Amino acid sequence: MVGDTPRQENRLLGVRLSAEVSSWLEEVEGKLGKEVYAEFAELDPADAGGDYTLGTSYLTGAGVGVVRVDESFRARSERLTEAVIGHELLHLRLRARGYPLFLFAPEVQTKHGPAEDVEQPNVNDLVSMIEHRVFAPEMRRTGFDRLIDLTNYLDSARRARGRADGQAEVLNYARAALEWDDPALLGELTKIYQANRWTRALAGGRRLAETIRAADPQTPSQVTALFLRCLPILYRAEFRVEPDTRFPLARIHPQMLIRAPRPARRRR
Ligand SMILES: [Zn+2]
Repeated sequence: MVGDTPRQENRLLGVRLSAEVSSWLEEVEGKLGKEVYAEFAELDPADAGGDYTLGTSYLTGAGVGVVRVDESFRARSERLTEAVIGHELLHLRLRARGYPLFLFAPEVQTKHGPAEDVEQPNVNDLVSMIEHRVFAPEMRRTGFDRLIDLTNYLDSARRARGRADGQAEVLNYARAALEWDDPALLGELTKIYQANRWTRALAGGRRLAETIRAADPQTPSQVTALFLRCLPILYRAEFRVEPDTRFPLARIHPQMLIRAPRPARRRR
């Protein structure tokens, strides 16, 4: 809600921001001490099989907040573009408020190579999904949640028939269960998972969604605790995390290193 004091009009990417979105921008810029940089960019590789990216955001090494919106939005309404900008500002606001990011430590290995190379995108998706729970009230209050259509995953899941399921399918099911808010569409996705024989991903996705829904995290340490409970669902292995003491932006937010648990002496 707007108070009595007239506030300066804020624009990003030519879009006039509502009072509430402006307040998110001002908090981020105030805490970082620098203006947010925004740009349109091609965010999807040409071979992206659906489930395309609408926007991304991150902090540069110098602590500048960056918001990137897919260039397809140039042709869409201001209101839709504002929804994507607002969503990314909410992620940046969590960074500015000291919410952690999580990174595989270099020594963690998978069958397909170092986890930091092959599994980091899945962990980033998990963190996003947890953060969406943290700022779900803002997305609902502004109506942005109804503007951003996430259901294009149905088609890519259908096309993936015959492929084996993995962590990405677990995450995508959990995201649908948490964010689509539409039992009929979720039922459709469930049938696709069953037809694809993605039984493990279906069970894992349900457990992941239940775990995240029940947790309702409100603080950085609650996010870390929830993240640690989610990892065994995703990887069927236990991990521990510790702050990366060499992280250059640690004055803004922690970066937690994901490490394999110290081996117990007796177990074999
Ligand atoms: Zn997001």
